[in-house]
Amino acid sequence: MKFVYTPQATPSIEVRGRDERYAVRRVHCVGRNYAAHAREMGMDTREPPFFFSKPADAIGANGTEVPYPTRTSNLHHEIELVVAIGIAGQNIAIDAALDHVFGYAVGNDLTRRDLQAKARDAGKPWDVAKGFDHSAPVTAIHPASLVGHFKRGAIWLSVNGEARQRADLSEMIWNVSEIIAELSTYYSLAPGDLIFTGTPAGVGALQRGDEIVGGIDGLSELRTRIV
Ligand code: MN
Repeated sequence: MKFVYTPQATPSIEVRGRDERYAVRRVHCVGRNYAAHAREMGMDTREPPFFFSKPADAIGANGTEVPYPTRTSNLHHEIELVVAIGIAGQNIAIDAALDHVFGYAVGNDLTRRDLQAKARDAGKPWDVAKGFDHSAPVTAIHPASLVGHFKRGAIWLSVNGEARQRADLSEMIWNVSEIIAELSTYYSLAPGDLIFTGTPAGVGALQRGDEIVGGIDGLSELRTRIV
């Protein structure tokens, strides 16, 4: 078979109220940033949160269909506040961190939970559990200049109209400022970097045909269908 290389356009996300799109560079994620979720995963809540990442093209637009991924029989939803970086920085101070934020979105950190548990127990990387195709649906980005910053407020997710996750952003172990400061000691941050800030308790399995709606007070709802 002849090899044909088809370059993909840079993944990008709609920006609420503007004609421009937000070009995605990197997708960082925080693990175990809500104590109740760490507990439901059977983990020690005294351990601090940590980082992992997804490929930029795992991002999917609001309202799109997500094919049930291969090689799993336990696909889970994880509703999360997503931070979009607007100004580059390294070793960012906590009290300057919000100056680096362009805006916010609602995201779902879709997870092959069976493969994640297997990798965790074997001390192996999480990539196949977290970084698969279509694994990061997000809403439009709402500029912070319009919606402000998020320290508290309801975060929730329902499947086929049934409530699954409901918590408050104030329950995050690391808040947005602390996440940016800590992450920027590991990586240079730049415009185009998204940060999924972790999910509250109530994660659970998804099936083909499920209608998922997730929200955060002050942002638009994220709607996804598993097909
Ligand atoms: Mn997550």
